[in-house]
Amino acid sequence: MEVTKIETIPIATKLPEGRGMGDSRGFGRTRETTLLRIETDDGTIGWGEAFAPGRIAAATVDELFRETVLGMDPFDVESLADRSYTDPYHFGGSVFVQSCVSAIDVALWDIIGKTVDRPVHRLLGGEECRTLTPYASTMYFTEANRSLDRPIRDAVEEGFTAAKIKIGSGFQDDVERVRIAREILGDDATLMVDMNGNYRPRQAVKTAKAIAQYDITWIEEPVPPENESGYREVKSRIDTPIAAGEAHYGRFAFKRLIDDRVVDIVQPNLGRCGGFSEARLIADMATTENVAVRPHVWNSGIGMAAAVQFAASVSSYPHTRNVPEPMMVEFDRSENPLRSEILETPLDPSGGVLDVPQGPGLGVSVDRNAVERYRTNRG
Ligand SMILES: [Mg+2]
Repeated sequence: MEVTKIETIPIATKLPEGRGMGDSRGFGRTRETTLLRIETDDGTIGWGEAFAPGRIAAATVDELFRETVLGMDPFDVESLADRSYTDPYHFGGSVFVQSCVSAIDVALWDIIGKTVDRPVHRLLGGEECRTLTPYASTMYFTEANRSLDRPIRDAVEEGFTAAKIKIGSGFQDDVERVRIAREILGDDATLMVDMNGNYRPRQAVKTAKAIAQYDITWIEEPVPPENESGYREVKSRIDTPIAAGEAHYGRFAFKRLIDDRVVDIVQPNLGRCGGFSEARLIADMATTENVAVRPHVWNSGIGMAAAVQFAASVSSYPHTRNVPEPMMVEFDRSENPLRSEILETPLDPSGGVLDVPQGPGLGVSVDRNAVERYRTNRG
């Protein structure tokens, strides 16, 4: 079995004027990502996603990977990450290279799963996993002044029992957002906050102490991702667990987060961290050190499906029974047709339960018409 075709497919969608939304670092109106489709000589098709702009991803795949991947046996997938660190030696550590490695790796695992008729999570290890707990990523900062409570009410109405909200744009606003979210979610729900690295340690600590009364499960990216000493400072001064990883990629960056106990929770993104092969290494390092793993998802339906398969494979070690913290998967509640339209059967978080697709590979079918609708390099 060998790869005969590799294709990058940039897709994008735009919010109308005035409808921008985002985080403490600013608003965005465009969502874009790059899908990657691999075909083998027996007609098997695998899908992956590079969390990278289309033209950059396409050029990176063409320049650095096309020759290597064409003719490759998909079962050699784990050689790809090693090769990325040694062959394009001086470039392997770049985020765009690792995003492309992620896309190729995920597509190859999709093909392996389809070939052996097993979902990827059963190939990566772990026990059979049927369901996960989705958490709503919500209460984004919006360009137009929308009511603060509506998004969190929507999440509750959809049945979510866990949510993560955006904060990080000032102490008073942080406390107000968290107060509203907790009031609407109720005492039993799980609540996380995301500062998107917008603070200095002192600011993050001030907010963290004030919102601790609302029972916060984790604080995400309190300071910029590069600021490891800042993470240590925040961690030494608060009790709430700290999470990071969406801006990190590759085993070496995650090893530093895990070894030094810079964070309590690592959040690899399957479109950026290096794919399933690297994510498994990261999860093995994390669980060995009793650091939790909760994948970050800000992707299309493909990256989301990959995150679900990965999350379903992560060992619950050291917990054996009655796991006190169930595996949660991020479920973005912002409007994004790249997530909600490109799978024939979209992943469904309603009722606070996310079924893990049990079909082979990623367990999802891609709606080619929807992909063409959002493709940016047509004709
Ligand atoms: Mg985040």
